[in-house]
Amino acid sequence: MSGTTPNALSSRRHATPVRIGAVTIGGPAPVVVQSMTNTDTADIDATVRQVAALARAGSELVRITVDRDEAAKAVPRIVEKLRTQGVTVPIVGDFHYIGHKLLAENPAAAEALDKYRINPGNVGFKAKKDRQFGDIIELALKYGKPVRIGVNWGSLDQELLTHLMDENARSAAPMDARAVMHEAIVQSALLSAERAEALGLGADRIVISAKVSAVQDLIAVYSMLAGRCSYALHLGLTEAGMGSKGIVASTAAMAVLLQQGIGDTIRVSLTPEPGGDRTLEVKVAQEILQTMGLRSFVPIVAACPGCGRTTSTVFQELARDVETMIRERMPEWRRQYPGVETLNLAVMGCIVNGPGESKHADIGISLPGTGEQPAAPVFIDGKKAMTLRGPNIAAEFKQIVEDYIARRFGAITKRPENVDVIE
Ligand code: SF4
Repeated sequence: MSGTTPNALSSRRHATPVRIGAVTIGGPAPVVVQSMTNTDTADIDATVRQVAALARAGSELVRITVDRDEAAKAVPRIVEKLRTQGVTVPIVGDFHYIGHKLLAENPAAAEALDKYRINPGNVGFKAKKDRQFGDIIELALKYGKPVRIGVNWGSLDQELLTHLMDENARSAAPMDARAVMHEAIVQSALLSAERAEALGLGADRIVISAKVSAVQDLIAVYSMLAGRCSYALHLGLTEAGMGSKGIVASTAAMAVLLQQGIGDTIRVSLTPEPGGDRTLEVKVAQEILQTMGLRSFVPIVAACPGCGRTTSTVFQELARDVETMIRERMPEWRRQYPGVETLNLAVMGCIVNGPGESKHADIGISLPGTGEQPAAPVFIDGKKAMTLRGPNIAAEFKQIVEDYIARRFGAITKRPENVDVIE
């Protein structure tokens, strides 16, 4: 792991580790990236395709909706098809309202899933709540599965909230309504977890999440949770939104918490554009962890923003080509060249910061800015190694990167096929 941030790593909260399939969440394990499909689970082929794409993009757990009998019946076939294709990513079932019934009536689904996610706010209502919650925990015990108790403030347990609001109103020093809401979210998660433990589910089978949609609320709620329990925490802003808004909000909230050592697994919940690429949420989650120095997934390309000194498009095209090459070549590189994800590249637009930044990278290129000699010095391991000229600079630079990777990382033992790599 390169470029680690001592603060974020050394202050990591030690959560009780939870095993989900071949993946561990919590304890000393690195922060795990997860995602969720948006296909109809009853559509087996579409769901298999999307899970495989998310796993290929680097999702280490994938959650699927199990909302009705057809979806529950599809689960074992989805898992079987994925395993036949060599996709080993653990599959989590997402249950609301009737999870107890679907799991009880579909034992093959209960067996095939690697974890059950339930929401204490809608597991059942009034007298049925405790019984249905208990039924799911009994099934988790029967099948040896971990459970995520996932509170969401859009479906917060209203009885608990009302009780806390009433109690607060009677208090001599009442808190503001937002603070009561935070307390209700935290209590909903912790009381459910306690109930699950009382039913026999060990802390090593319990993951907690408490998702809200505002950055400051998320930070407040998870800081409270981290101080009051040692359960593994799943981190994520819910309803983060589309495009840059969703990315910025998720990053702002999670970065603050991760820097404090809080969070054992993350999901970036982005609303995709119609027909958009679902795997973007995986890429963003990886980039959050990598830019914070918590994990390494792909070589990082440092590129300057360009300015009036870069009047041609050569520089932007090369930066884009190198990024594309990395994404395309990574599946193969990851197998062939263990450690390649720690590589640092630099693609710079002119002589002002180009040579300096390039020297800090493993391989860097400084392209000629407007009015400069048409030559692009290449720096390898901090030293000027050659100068590229002419129309084939992009192809030649990419070949230099390929050769460097083979030379530096090729001597290390290859990873076997079909092994999911979790650092
Ligand atoms: S390195 Fe050169 S081209 Fe890039 S932003 Fe700085 S001055 Fe502009």
